[in-house]
Amino acid sequence: MAIDEMLEKLSNACGIAGREEEVRGLMKKVLKPYVDELKEDNLGNVIGIKKGKKKAPRVMLAAHMDEIGLLVKTISKEGFLQFAKIGGIDDRILLAQKVTVYTEKKPLDGIVGSKPPHIQKEEERKKAITCDKLFIDIGAEDEKAARRMGVKIGDPIGFDIKFARAGKNIVMGKAFDDRVGCAVMAETMKRLRKTDCTVYAVGTVQEEVGLRGATTAAFGIYPDVGIALDVTVAGDIPGVKEVEAPIKIRKGPSITVADKGLITHPKVLKLLIDAAEENKIPYQLETGLPGSTDAARISLTREGVPSGVISIPTRYIHSPASLLSLKDVENTVKLTVAAVQKVPEYF
Ligand SMILES: [Zn+2]
Repeated sequence: MAIDEMLEKLSNACGIAGREEEVRGLMKKVLKPYVDELKEDNLGNVIGIKKGKKKAPRVMLAAHMDEIGLLVKTISKEGFLQFAKIGGIDDRILLAQKVTVYTEKKPLDGIVGSKPPHIQKEEERKKAITCDKLFIDIGAEDEKAARRMGVKIGDPIGFDIKFARAGKNIVMGKAFDDRVGCAVMAETMKRLRKTDCTVYAVGTVQEEVGLRGATTAAFGIYPDVGIALDVTVAGDIPGVKEVEAPIKIRKGPSITVADKGLITHPKVLKLLIDAAEENKIPYQLETGLPGSTDAARISLTREGVPSGVISIPTRYIHSPASLLSLKDVENTVKLTVAAVQKVPEYF
C-alpha cells in the first residue's frame, strides 16, 4: 500500500483515546509484512519488532493511534446527547460540527447543535458557547428512541470528516494527529532493509489523555533510544506570528530541541540532525512548544532512555480537520530511516 493510501485509511478510521480498536486493526495489518514479530500489550499498544544483531542498540519508534473526541455523557429526555471531551479540544471548534456516534449496533450521524443566531441575545452572540451548553442531535424523538438506536453512556463520538486531496501534495483530513505518524512509522519499517538495530514500532494508545500507552510500552521494551513520530503546529497561516509558531509546511520534518515534557537528549539531537544533513533531507528545528509527545514518557522510563521527536508540520491540529504536505511526509520517512540506520554510530 502506498503511504498516502495508508494515511487515507488511517485518517478515516475511528480511534478516540481508549477506543483505538479500528486503528489498531489497521496498524497490525500495515506493520505485519515488515516485522518479525507482532504483538499487542495489556493496554492495547501494538508492537511490531524487526530483529537486528544481538549486541546492537534497541530503538523504539512510537506513533500514537488515538485521537481527540467526545464521549456520550447523558441522554436528555428529549433525546439529545450531552457529551464529555476526551483530549485537548477548544469548545469553539465544536459548534455545528457533523459527528459520528459509534454505538455497539452501528455508527449514527449527529450534529452538534446550539441555539440559532436569530434567537440569541446580543450578549450571547459575543461569547463563545461552552461545551456544557452544546448537545448532539441524532434525530431521536426522545430518550427511549435514542436508546433504541443503540446509544449508551460512554459511546465514543468522532468528527465526521473524510480524507481529501488538494493537488498533488496537499491532503486534508481528520486525526492526522497522529495517524500521519502511524503511516510514517509503518513506511519506515517497510523501507528499513539494512539495520543492525532491533527496531520496535509501537502504535501507542491514550496519548491524548496523558501519554499513557507509551509509558507502559516503554517500560516493557526498555529501549536504548526512543523516537516519537508525531505532528507539530504549522504556523504558516494568517494571524500567526513567526515567534508564536515558526514551523511551516513544505519545509521538511521538524526536529524537536525541547518541548514542555522533553529536552531532547544531545546525542539523539545530533543523531537526527546529522542524519538529515548527510542525506540532504530538509528539516526545521523547533523549541518552546507548550505540548509534549510520547518521547517525554519514553525518556523517563526506568533508568532513563535518550529520546527525541521527529514531527510532521500540520496545520489546524486538535480541530476536526487538518492539512499537511505529502512532501513533508516523504522527508519524515527518509529522516526516520536514516536516523535508525545511524543509531549504532552514536549508541
Ligand atoms: Zn499527537
